[in-house]
Amino acid sequence: SAVRKHSTAAVLEEPINPGVSVNHTQLLINGKFVDAASGKTFPTLDPRTGEVIAHVAEGDAEDVNRAVSAARKAFDEGPWPKMTAYERSMVLFRFADLLEKHTDELAALETLDNGKPYEQAAKIELPMVARMFRYYAGWADKIHGLTVPADGPHQVQTLHEPIGVAGQIIPWNFPLLMFAWKIAPALACGNSVVLKTAEQTPLSALYAAKLLHEAGLPEGVLNVISGFGPTAGAALASHMDVDKLAFTGSTDTGKIVLELAARSNLKPVTLELGGKSPFIVCEDADVEQAVELAHFALFFNQGQCCCAGSRTYVHESVYDEFIEKAKARAMRRTVGDPFKKGIEQGPQIDNEQFEKILKCIRSGMESGATLETGGGQLGSKGYYIQPTVFSNVKDDMHIAQEEIFGPVQSILKFKDLEEVVQRANNTRYGLAAGVFTRSLDTANTLTRALRAGTVWVNCFDVFDAAIPFGGYKMSGIGREKGEYGLKNYLQVKAVVTPLKSLARI
Ligand code: NAD
Repeated sequence: SAVRKHSTAAVLEEPINPGVSVNHTQLLINGKFVDAASGKTFPTLDPRTGEVIAHVAEGDAEDVNRAVSAARKAFDEGPWPKMTAYERSMVLFRFADLLEKHTDELAALETLDNGKPYEQAAKIELPMVARMFRYYAGWADKIHGLTVPADGPHQVQTLHEPIGVAGQIIPWNFPLLMFAWKIAPALACGNSVVLKTAEQTPLSALYAAKLLHEAGLPEGVLNVISGFGPTAGAALASHMDVDKLAFTGSTDTGKIVLELAARSNLKPVTLELGGKSPFIVCEDADVEQAVELAHFALFFNQGQCCCAGSRTYVHESVYDEFIEKAKARAMRRTVGDPFKKGIEQGPQIDNEQFEKILKCIRSGMESGATLETGGGQLGSKGYYIQPTVFSNVKDDMHIAQEEIFGPVQSILKFKDLEEVVQRANNTRYGLAAGVFTRSLDTANTLTRALRAGTVWVNCFDVFDAAIPFGGYKMSGIGREKGEYGLKNYLQVKAVVTPLKSLARI
């Protein structure tokens, strides 16, 4: 039977005016907006049309050098690490207030540059960004070392000190949220930062960084470099004066930056990388609810989530019903101009991702999976893709192995728990997993057996500031967010002094 296609009406209209002007396109170095040393710029594009939004200063190695010097000076001499932790926390609290005050502009820039629905940016992501800064502001004055009992007549204590200059490289799928995950813990601990944004989405971080200075951040503490990976990103990863590197992006690039860090000064590295997360629908599941959650787990943010539930495993007893409902739900998904009210899905980020996703869809069809709905471009302008559902997907198909990073759901059938655990874990990734069941025993069995950094039971994409996030296996190294996230930005110093008196504690 013919595959139903989505209506193109919503994407054929004229793009909606975002109602925000782009004021910051230069690099932010030492508290000032400056041109790139080379004078070069690059265009950042509107994913709704592929047209240029603005030309942005293109930072490269020389700009990274300037930014690292500023961050070094701010750390070694500047007030930031020497301020009281309470004063630092107040800067972050004031910044969170400013983020709320400027939600409209920030969300509009995010949507314009990234293509995500404005309502999602304004109502879900911006509040999470502000929450992240308040969460770590709250930690700033609660970081302390220990008194350690030692065998000899010694007084031993540990000091938890900031590590120094943190280099941070972020992707384009959640530009402001990744900005927050990276810089909030680093700043709370008293570090200085050089952040490289993704070349697809440089705009919102520049705006936010300006607000952070208004909140009282001293100059040089946060430097923001727009630019490309092999130039600016590689220069940061291999810089001898960067004391720590945090990276979010693809697994391939993660390997490159880890190697650059090792070959230069052995800076410690945390990596948040790709995934191919299973979402397991058990036989006792309420199918309606399972369909809705599995849909959200995959399609949220145009499918551009590292932890997307991109392998939907469904028990054979509910499989047929699930397929019908999952297909109907995907066909109801509202796709269109992300500035329009009620839109669930905007365009993909750029032409490269758009083409890659269409190629994955073709591969799914060629390998014998059943295309239930979608399968192509929506409209003729910009990077819109029809919400796509494949059933009869087999574990060894390309679409079940590789990260698609798009609105393409792959549904696989399973018979029993032992089998599904084995299949779910049979991937080189281990970022997240979803479990949908009414049985406590099943939930306990699966949460312990799945090899993933996060297991969501009867929920998905819950990202509170306090919940640690990170990957098993090739999905990464280390954890961000929560108390765990502080460890990335602290050194432990043991201080040992003799006890002159024989009195022992
Ligand atoms: P990417 O790895 O190419 O880019 C990510 C960042 O790395 C960008 O800022 C880019 O400029 C930079 N970069 C690229 N090459 C570099 C190099 N040689 N040296 C230094 N920096 C370099 O990733 P992408 O394709 O743009 O983004 C999508 C990928 O990111 C997906 O695979 C997704 O799974 C992953 N991702 C992971 C998480 C997570 O938290 N685990 C979050 C978002 C995205």
